[in-house]
Amino acid sequence: MRILITAGPTREPIDPVRYIGNRSSGRMGAALARAAQRAGHGVSLILGPSTAAMPADIPHIEVETADQMFQAVLREFPQHDLLIMAAAVSDYRPKSVAAEKLARHGELALELEATPDIVAATGKIKRPDQRTVGFSLEATGDLDRARRKLAQKNLDLIVHNPTSTIGSEAVEATLLWPDGRQERLPPSSKADFASRLLERSIALFDRIPL
Ligand code: C5P
Repeated sequence: MRILITAGPTREPIDPVRYIGNRSSGRMGAALARAAQRAGHGVSLILGPSTAAMPADIPHIEVETADQMFQAVLREFPQHDLLIMAAAVSDYRPKSVAAEKLARHGELALELEATPDIVAATGKIKRPDQRTVGFSLEATGDLDRARRKLAQKNLDLIVHNPTSTIGSEAVEATLLWPDGRQERLPPSSKADFASRLLERSIALFDRIPL
């Protein structure tokens, strides 16, 4: 199987030296890529500017902004069977980027606009033989928002995890499927979690009509 994995944060520039970013390390995506490679799949990685060590032998495309990640995913998705969207894509970016470093004088308000929703776009072009898996990082244990994203983004599986997961070594997650099934996984390392998630992602292909 050919698996496309996105990992890490995105950076949205404010001016030539500053950006809006987040604490994603890229570890989840790296763990998923290693698990997929170990299981014998073809893996491609699309990487934001992450701090985690990435498997050097896995082909990867480096991007910085949500827009660059969007272009790369749209280009690569048709050549893959499964997309696992583990990247922590910035939901907002500055509406305009200053050409020069902004100088300090009093207050500064940034006007932000939404970035393209990458996985929702793949949900619209997804073929019957393709599957998409997303993540939903939420402050609360409330699963409703994750369930809404599953439907809105036309995902085949979504991972709900608390915000404490970002940048950490361990994962605590609940998996949700469109048919209403859900599974709470025991707290585990990102490596163990990645193997479990990969198994369940591969199982999504069991129901492909021939
Ligand atoms: O930001 P949100 O919680 O809605 O993200 C849920 C899922 O959507 C994640 O899998 C994330 O990678 C993806 N996403 C995306 N494009 C965005 C924002 C999030 O593909 N602009």
